[in-house]
Amino acid sequence: MRPPWSRRFACFDQVALRDDGARAVVRVGDIAIGAAEFVVMAGPCAVESERQVCATAEAVAAAGARILRGGAFKPRSSPYSFQGLGIEGLRILQRARAATGLAIVTEVMCPEDVNLVSEYADILQVGSRSMENFALLEAVGRGTRPVLLKRGMTATLEEFLQSAQVVVMNGNPNVILCERGIRTFDSVTRNTLDVAAVPILKSVSRLPVIVDPSHAAGARMLVPPLARAATVAGADGLLVEVHPAPETALSDGVQSLTFEEFRLMMDELQPYIALASGLREPELAVAERVS
Ligand code: PEP
Ligand code: MN
Repeated sequence: MRPPWSRRFACFDQVALRDDGARAVVRVGDIAIGAAEFVVMAGPCAVESERQVCATAEAVAAAGARILRGGAFKPRSSPYSFQGLGIEGLRILQRARAATGLAIVTEVMCPEDVNLVSEYADILQVGSRSMENFALLEAVGRGTRPVLLKRGMTATLEEFLQSAQVVVMNGNPNVILCERGIRTFDSVTRNTLDVAAVPILKSVSRLPVIVDPSHAAGARMLVPPLARAATVAGADGLLVEVHPAPETALSDGVQSLTFEEFRLMMDELQPYIALASGLREPELAVAERVS
């Protein structure tokens, strides 16, 4: 039975769930996002130094993360905040990949940088603030790297899928949707995690859906419960901020987990991941068939 909202999304043919239920699986090396494995991407908000990134990479890999996140080009709300290390940050990420075998996801902010960032990254992140940068969406669409597309903080789900459609229309089918919280009237949390976005997106779109509890929460103590909620809501994975010393972080320290907090969260998530994969079995059976 089609959900009541499905007609609203019918025009996004390139990203829509088709009648046969076949789902897109985004592959990065031996990692398959949108298939049976629950894929966790973790690391600092911003790349600050080689020591910081390599220590974090080792800690998150040991706790079960498969992909290292870290921003080299940072879209900061304030022009006075740390703007990222740029190319040097990309080189640091590359060295962390060589040391740990983790794949790399990092943000690209403008069309001119797509080729450069693609040389270093396995997945290109298009951030919340860039979700409607159509020149960037077209450029990553013409590129060869999978795209992690974050929902704009004031974007409807329809607008979110419209942006995904732009990437796919330009030739790149490998798009991962990321719910990262939206602006609402409450200011206790940084954003409001739209948990319903996960089953809604999965009911209308064939793309994998992951959740970023860190930017939704804006506070480290809320990250584990939001991660649990995302897991049982049917997300294909998580994007989590982790820092060796969050109190000294140059970006988003208040929402970053320590290594120990991340390890604990990953341990505690295991039964929820098992439960969710049981719930997703019919969906996964189709995903595996088409991959
Ligand atoms: C980030 O991932 O560090 C980031 C800037 O996220 P968002 O685009 O969701 O704000
Ligand atoms: Mn951040």
